[in-house]
Amino acid sequence: MSIRLQQISKHFGNTRALEPVNLDIHEGELVGLLGPSGSGKTTLLRIIAGLESADTHPRSGKILFGDRDVTHVHVRDRRIGFVFQHYALFRHMSVYENVAFGLKVMPRNRRPSTGEIRARVFRLLEMVKLEDFANRFPAQLSGGQQQRVSLARALAVKPDVLLLDEPFGALDAKVRQDLRRWLRRLHDELNFTSVFVTHDQEEALELSDRVVVMSNGKIEQIDTPETLYRHP
Ligand code: ADP
Ligand code: ADP
Repeated sequence: MSIRLQQISKHFGNTRALEPVNLDIHEGELVGLLGPSGSGKTTLLRIIAGLESADTHPRSGKILFGDRDVTHVHVRDRRIGFVFQHYALFRHMSVYENVAFGLKVMPRNRRPSTGEIRARVFRLLEMVKLEDFANRFPAQLSGGQQQRVSLARALAVKPDVLLLDEPFGALDAKVRQDLRRWLRRLHDELNFTSVFVTHDQEEALELSDRVVVMSNGKIEQIDTPETLYRHP
């Protein structure tokens, strides 16, 4: 699903978090939002998600998912998957139950059958090589394994868009590297559109199809990693 932001701005009281921003993300792209703390990355991600509303004064911008105007569509109806820095798995549920959760709470008319849920959960657990951990609980897994479960859980509902906020920030360097490969592989196999936030330049350059460089609530540059390496 493509994402188009037109003249999206955001104030918190008198603080201007985002200047009017225009951004086109293509269907199937993996885009990194890169910038220092306070540059507006998370605000932009939350507006794409529908967790935060953009300014409506002095004028109101627009958000399109494909041809659909989602500017006023509730987060619940935007078909989005989320991954956060602190994986926020349900501690009292097994790995299997965590990944199945989003499917089990779907309205009856959209909910897959128990057999379909099982097949989809195991397919995703196989993709992140955790099929043998289905009956374990989050506390029995390493941080990296827990974040792989988070990826599987976010993808189980087949979101059009996957949004990740500093997804690997809490992990040490080696595990972080590993998780980037998992995300890249899932992205390439399942063909969703992803936007992730990072303040880590290496991560943005390594993982993104295009990098959106932000500072002071503005988009400074949008380019492929190759171009950014040559013209930083
Ligand atoms: P980043 O994700 O790049 O660190 P943020 O989007 O979190 O940046 O923040 C951008 C600006 O908006 C900062 O000045 C921040 O203090 C401000 N801001 C973000 N969220 C809120 C909020 N809920 N209330 C007030 N100010 C906020
Ligand atoms: P359907 O909804 O009929 O399964 P899709 O086009 O959504 O068709 O998916 C095609 C194939 O890819 C199916 O086998 C589906 O299970 C798999 N697939 C697509 N997206 C995901 C996802 N996010 N997680 C797991 N499997 C997926």
